[in-house]
Amino acid sequence: MLKKLFQSFRSPLRKPQQHVRTTPEVLSSNQHSLQRNQFSRYAVNIVERLQSAGYQAYLVGGCVRDLMLGITPKDFDVATSATPEQVRAEFRNARIIGRRFKLVHIHFGREIIEVATFRANHPQDDEQEDSHQSSRNESGRILRDNVYGTLEEDAQRRDFTINALYYDPVTERVLDYAHGVHDIRNRLVRLIGDPEQRYKEDPVRMLRAVRFAAKLDFGIEKHTALPIRPLAPMLRDIPAARLFEEVLKLFLSGHAAPTFEMLVDLELFDPLFPASAKALEHMPTYTHTLISQALVNTDLRVQQNKPVTPAFLFAALLWPALPYRVLRLQERGMPPIPAMQEAAHELIAEQCQRIAIPKRFTLPIREIWDMQERLPRRSGKRADLLLDNPRFRAGYDFLLLREAAGEETDGLGEWWTDYQDANESGRRDMIRELGSKSESAGQAPRKRRRSGGGRKRAGADAGE
Ligand code: ATP
Ligand code: MG
Repeated sequence: MLKKLFQSFRSPLRKPQQHVRTTPEVLSSNQHSLQRNQFSRYAVNIVERLQSAGYQAYLVGGCVRDLMLGITPKDFDVATSATPEQVRAEFRNARIIGRRFKLVHIHFGREIIEVATFRANHPQDDEQEDSHQSSRNESGRILRDNVYGTLEEDAQRRDFTINALYYDPVTERVLDYAHGVHDIRNRLVRLIGDPEQRYKEDPVRMLRAVRFAAKLDFGIEKHTALPIRPLAPMLRDIPAARLFEEVLKLFLSGHAAPTFEMLVDLELFDPLFPASAKALEHMPTYTHTLISQALVNTDLRVQQNKPVTPAFLFAALLWPALPYRVLRLQERGMPPIPAMQEAAHELIAEQCQRIAIPKRFTLPIREIWDMQERLPRRSGKRADLLLDNPRFRAGYDFLLLREAAGEETDGLGEWWTDYQDANESGRRDMIRELGSKSESAGQAPRKRRRSGGGRKRAGADAGE
């Protein structure tokens, strides 16, 4: 009974494979622009050594694609017919690692070359399926994926045609099994095989399509783009830890702003950031401006090789979802500050069910948000204490971001800019002026306000 049910789920997956090529197009050295010395010499040495030991070995994936486009590769991947154990036997500095599947890392000082054994696409018939090596769930998603295969099979199981190019540094030839060179020339991201099936096998490929389109400034080929919107909700079933890794790649690779536009357009933003997607519906201009401004700044920092913190990024991505929650809690009678704390806590907890943001980032997110409450309160020694707070800079940058998105703060950002520039006596004047201003506005700046219980404040200091 159950088996029948599963088969009926599986039957649509048994469509004939498209674009299957068993003989590659071979490009000799005068038919492509690649040169051996553009590749990491360690990676080239590994390929040479594996080949002399009698195995097939190639440089593959992102490094071949990027070099064909004149982009400096992030890393160099090697694909080989040798099993991980055979690779390890050849190199002293090799370590087998296994996350989703077994790989070998070969270490050369700080450089690591990843060596993967050729793998095959998943067997789709029950008779072929060896449940120790591979398995799918009822929607077609691959759960385990450790079936070794031939070079031809390895090319077919790769995601995009532009990622299935193999470079042999010895003969200087490129093997193209999926018309990848054609798609590089036409600047197109195209899935190998039946797009719907390939997304169902691994929904993260939808995010990868966007990532490569944004990074390379490519279009997404029509049939590759078409199933994304209907299948986008499948991302909800992806383990939150894997999505955290993918989202970092999406937003920290220097092309976050166009990536965000594409994610929203292809309805992939919603399953990743459901609360922010709602804010985008209810307050489109503010939410869109705040997030894209944060991403433009992030891209700029990445391009200038400046450090970027995921905490700031997530703080911005989630911030527009906060006001609605604060309001809801206030309506239930909670005072403003505890409501803010509680809303922040709830929002992060919910978000972590989708994307597993580690604690080392969720704490700073809370601190950046907390800073937003504290930055307006500057009287007495408070301003100086805030300046000394290790989170001040992030909090101040975040304030400027909110202002850029159109939030009314009564010139608070400019005040803090001036305060940082001012000398000691200038600062005293600014604080005094502040006192007289707020007194004339009928406020008592130095008076302590006690909020109700339940107020938890990350990084609270003696200034309170
Ligand atoms: P970059 O490293 O520049 O982000 P890349 O193409 O090298 O890009 P990786 O994530 O390093 O991407 O993956 C290496 C290669 O492994 C890819 O080029 C692709 O051929 C294959 N690959 C990675 N993830 C998948 C996947 N989910 N499905 C199928 N093939 C994949
Ligand atoms: Mg790579």
